Amino acid sequence: MPEIDFLVVGGGAAGWSCATTLRQLGAEGSVVLVGRELDAPYDRTLCSKSYLAGTAADADALLAPLQDIELLTATSVMGLDLGDRTVRLSDKRTLSFGQVCLATGANVRRLQLAGGGLEGVHYLRTLRNAAAIRKDLADAERIVLVGGSYIAAEVAATLTSLGRRCTLVMQEAAPFERTLGPTAAAFFQQLLDANGITLHPQDEVVRLEGPGDRVTSVVTARGRRLPADAVIIGAGVMPDVSVAKRAGLALGPTGGVLVDECLRASVPGVFAAGDICEYADPLRGRQLRRVEHWDVAIQQGRTAARGMVGEPTPHDAVPYFFSDLADWASLEYVGFGGTADTEVVRGSIADSAFSVFYLQDGRLSGTLTIGRGEDLDHARALLRDGGDLSTFTAELAEPDHDLRALAKEARPVSESIKVVQVASGVSADPLPPASPVESYGQAPQQWICENCGFIFDVAEGDPDGGVAPGTAFADLPDDWVCPVCGATKSQFGPY
Ligand SMILES: Cc1cc2nc3c(=O)[nH]c(=O)nc-3n(C[C@H](O)[C@H](O)[C@H](O)COP(=O)(O)OP(=O)(O)OC[C@H]3O[C@@H](n4cnc5c(N)ncnc54)[C@H](O)[C@@H]3O)c2cc1C
Repeated sequence: MPEIDFLVVGGGAAGWSCATTLRQLGAEGSVVLVGRELDAPYDRTLCSKSYLAGTAADADALLAPLQDIELLTATSVMGLDLGDRTVRLSDKRTLSFGQVCLATGANVRRLQLAGGGLEGVHYLRTLRNAAAIRKDLADAERIVLVGGSYIAAEVAATLTSLGRRCTLVMQEAAPFERTLGPTAAAFFQQLLDANGITLHPQDEVVRLEGPGDRVTSVVTARGRRLPADAVIIGAGVMPDVSVAKRAGLALGPTGGVLVDECLRASVPGVFAAGDICEYADPLRGRQLRRVEHWDVAIQQGRTAARGMVGEPTPHDAVPYFFSDLADWASLEYVGFGGTADTEVVRGSIADSAFSVFYLQDGRLSGTLTIGRGEDLDHARALLRDGGDLSTFTAELAEPDHDLRALAKEARPVSESIKVVQVASGVSADPLPPASPVESYGQAPQQWICENCGFIFDVAEGDPDGGVAPGTAFADLPDDWVCPVCGATKSQFGPY
């Protein structure tokens, strides 16, 4: 008998959800959740919102207490031996286990900047980070935020509403441009600007300066010197696959743990969920997908738990995320991200009550909504059906048109959805090509060639290979190869 029947590694959203669901499903035997952080599982999404603002206390952030589950906080899994099924913990114990779910989440991408180690320079991932920022900013007035996506924008909004003067430096032409496209980006640019945030688009930080140990200014590529009492960097995250990699599990093209549609990894009895999970999405012909959203982590924890109790179930939820910019705007999104050749706006942008339907080749890839939550369920149905909407854009744009009827009218796009079993380590079909990472935050900006170590930097592109600076890795031509060793795109992972 193993000492632990069900081992869950990582005490974030996915780990908490998996452990909780195991008990709800009547799992028999011991369930142990091992988490490296000091805190019991908490709602990470509050770290840039109410917890940072000081309106939510530590206790408010905690998720529901675990029932009949052993929680080890401040404990790391140092190694997994998937041959003899043992886990090595940082408290020096080695224990045997039966099934395991890996939910080790992601780490922030740290920028290699001169002055990056100065006091007053922060990254935000954990509740403790948020508490430290809150404390450090008690007397700070001018804050520089680095990044054009969710973390930087949310933090700028939160701190501005607390009376700080915020300046945002981003590579994009407008906030959220990379993930939400030009229509929404223009809306958010106007929103942040109207609320007093200074925006410096199409620029980037090159150095942080201070006469002493503390940062006092930020120098940008365009030659700006911005005064700063503190700097908060939101430059995206990278999946934390160190345990998975050492254990010999297969990784996917975006660097996550490769799993099939039931979230089974390349070794039997091993599952993955949350930010590290790169799964074969049954809703889109097993396209590989890795998503960094709260709700997806919760849902995947549930799917993994089902598999662990012997009820493997395809993970067929349409990805969903939300974001709040102070009390200025709340956005919600359902869908698969990636590129869109058409944006259809429904409702009124001027009244902050609109949805954007993103179409690629006539097919809905996602829907963003601000103030029109009623569109989301219909969008979900349209995304599931996968019908061709290219001749229905006028109806989509008409705020009163019945989207339910549209879901019936749209012609289904036929595709064969086959089940691929990665768990055996042998797949009848080769896994499908990677899709872009759908990230709550920026997609990775640097990609490393696993073969020779060459780093592809999105900002620089590959001019000799005909790739313009700023081209997303996902948008590189399929026949693009590593300029150093000739390795294909699939041999690159996020750096
Ligand atoms: C500030 C902030 C705000 C966000 N806001 C939103 C939002 O509004 N909407 C949204 O959809 N998403 C949001 N997100 C993203 C969302 O929080 C993540 O997608 C989600 O938390 C991922 O859950 P996870 O369980 O996969 O990973 P995590 O939450 O990162 O949890 C993984 C845990 O595993 C632990 N761990 C790692 N390695 C080990 C090990 N070897 N041993 C033991 N433990 C280990 C880590 O310490 C961590 O506690 C936000 C993220 C941040 C940082």
